Amino acid sequence: MSLVSWKRVVIKVGSALIAPNQNGCSSHYLLGIAQFIVRCKSMGIEVVLVSSGSVAAGSHLFNEQEEGYKPSIAVKKAMAAAGQMEMMATWDRLFDFPTAQILVTHGDLRDRERYISIKETIFSLLENGILPILNENDTVTTDKLKVGDNDNLSAMVAAAADADTLIICSDIDGLYDSNPHENPDAKLLSSVPVINDEIFAMAGGSSSSVGTGGMKTKIEAAKKAVAHGIDTYIVNGFTEQTFNALLAGKNPGTHFSPDKQPMKEHLHWMTHTSTAQGEVVVENDFTTELEDDSELLTSNEIIAVNGDFAVGDTILVRKDDGTRLAKAKSNYSSCLLSFIAEQDDQAFASKFQDTTGPIISENNIALLEEK
Ligand code: GLU
Repeated sequence: MSLVSWKRVVIKVGSALIAPNQNGCSSHYLLGIAQFIVRCKSMGIEVVLVSSGSVAAGSHLFNEQEEGYKPSIAVKKAMAAAGQMEMMATWDRLFDFPTAQILVTHGDLRDRERYISIKETIFSLLENGILPILNENDTVTTDKLKVGDNDNLSAMVAAAADADTLIICSDIDGLYDSNPHENPDAKLLSSVPVINDEIFAMAGGSSSSVGTGGMKTKIEAAKKAVAHGIDTYIVNGFTEQTFNALLAGKNPGTHFSPDKQPMKEHLHWMTHTSTAQGEVVVENDFTTELEDDSELLTSNEIIAVNGDFAVGDTILVRKDDGTRLAKAKSNYSSCLLSFIAEQDDQAFASKFQDTTGPIISENNIALLEEK
């Protein structure tokens, strides 16, 4: 009998595991991870892999390698393009079933139609026994398109794939109550029931010299995943014991409990994946209970409409003092919303809204905890 009850797992592997010496791809650590994936599949568990490492794998192909050399963004993108081939070839060699490459940008994920397309592609690959391997499409990313780090990307992918488990491989055993590199008495937290500010404080800043993530981005990813009801682990990806323990139903690192009341799928996407294309600013004393009121927001409560958004885009609703209240799908374009918000004639504005419908519909609003 299987000791684990997972049905679909997303596993995130970072650059330090792919190219530990920054001298091309190495299968040294990937073998253990590949074996874990093979064993999961033989137990009927579906696996999706999020693999960083294209830049690290490709950097040795570029000549300017003197000490202290800092490649430009354009060169890094070229390294990613070349390294992605080497990385995929290495992964592919380790499996006797087919693999598939999916490269995405944040622009792809925050567009609902493209997001659904990514989701459907992952499902079709899984149905056909093909291992989806995702990475950020570094060549075409600009600041606006960039997810930024593959930890957060893995949580977005886990949500899109409807996974029940996310395993983030790190270079240490999990989350410690203080920095284990500086404090020998630092204790490993084996379980985190709720991710709050205290947990973020323990994560500190980024520490990896190879990838872009650190413990902080792993906690951000865990927060996104647990909000979708996904069991999340941060484990040490460098040791095979980690993977043996996981398959034996044990927790070798830090386990983050899934939220008891996970968010609805489209609200999770709106909160954690989609970025706001504009914002609607309301007075500081705005009191409407956004989740309960049938008239969620009226034009006379709006003091400013910022940005350029279209019908159906995600917007941020915030107070004038900066307090973020909610993310929502706008039923109005920024142009139309500015027009009615600027009307002095309240009767005209409300009549207009009566015919055009609510600015935000009740089931398309996600309240934010962040103040
Ligand atoms: N997309 C980057 C790469 O493949 C990695 C980003 C990250 O490490 O978070 O090199």
